[in-house]
Amino acid sequence: MVVAGAAALLAAVTVAGCRDAGSASPVSRTQLLLGTNSTIIVHGGDPGDAVFDAAFGRVREIQDKMSLQYEDSELNEINRAAGREPVEVSEETFMVIETALEYAELSHGTFNVALGPIIRAWGIAGDNPRRPPDEELLELLELTDYRDVELNRDERTVFLRREGMVLDLGGIAKGYAADEAARVLEEQGVEYALVDFGGDIRAVGNRRPDGERWRIGIQDPSDTSRGAFVGVLGLEQPSVVTSGDYERFLELDDEVFHHIIDPETGKPAVSGLRSVTVETDNTMKADIHSTAVFVLGLERGLEYLEQLNGVEAILVTGDDEVYLTAGLQDTFELRGDGRYTLMQ
Ligand code: ADP
Ligand code: MG
Repeated sequence: MVVAGAAALLAAVTVAGCRDAGSASPVSRTQLLLGTNSTIIVHGGDPGDAVFDAAFGRVREIQDKMSLQYEDSELNEINRAAGREPVEVSEETFMVIETALEYAELSHGTFNVALGPIIRAWGIAGDNPRRPPDEELLELLELTDYRDVELNRDERTVFLRREGMVLDLGGIAKGYAADEAARVLEEQGVEYALVDFGGDIRAVGNRRPDGERWRIGIQDPSDTSRGAFVGVLGLEQPSVVTSGDYERFLELDDEVFHHIIDPETGKPAVSGLRSVTVETDNTMKADIHSTAVFVLGLERGLEYLEQLNGVEAILVTGDDEVYLTAGLQDTFELRGDGRYTLMQ
């Protein structure tokens, strides 16, 4: 998982909250979890440290199972046994991998959790990113077929058929963790909150305490330093996730590489899209869809979205055009000082 820079957090900046007299100001806590700044903002009163601790504790549990960075994670156990034997995992790790594979199929392989060997070669998560030579990428691509991930529901095992395969849940675990953190907050009696894990956002409560919709600023990919917005989205559904090319991880000469890989080439996806924001009722799935659509590009991305129910999206192209799915026509407000054009 990438340690998200300031840009990732800005992608999720929430637009000024409640202004009505008498309402308590929001209380927030941030922890570095899942390789990103993970923030929880509670509105409508301070729930106390124990509630924040419970939510972050849940996220740490998920991190300890699903992170590549943590040696003893279930994910690393699976990876170490690649080509040798199936590994029994917890129900939630199994479910996350099962969901990932389901959408790998639906997204024509563009969402692919078996990209680990390629992601490792680029050094995306480490301190020494590099540009792997084409021959190396071609060889590693052989080890990235998600159909070589074998699941056994009854035994709850995961088996990577070929030695050298590596699963990487960096494109899905954060979203799942955001769902779980929100669930814990609700269990603890929190009525209004935003969970923001490096741009993966989940709202608790259909509305803010003042009765207005939650409003999320969509980062302007061309103006990350100021944290300017392409526009503002009023939430109809609780989960919003953005994938963008501005979360760059490597600059070599005058080329900039970002961290969303096209599984066909083994290189950062060049699809003509600069960012994809997905709104739906499940953050794990929003995390998947935003990555998949980013790789698919405008036309194939819109086709992919059409086959799904209740999934809305904002697509920003390299030509400064903004495309919305039908459900967002009334809830998205364009900003960006005239730079962007809303396409109909
Ligand atoms: P962010 O972490 O900024 O939210 P994403 O959610 O799009 O970005 O996930 C990027 C991470 O997902 C990468 O760091 C890598 O671990 C993994 N990844 C990269 N490309 C793909 C892909 N095509 N399919 C699935 N996972 C991917
Ligand atoms: Mg994602």
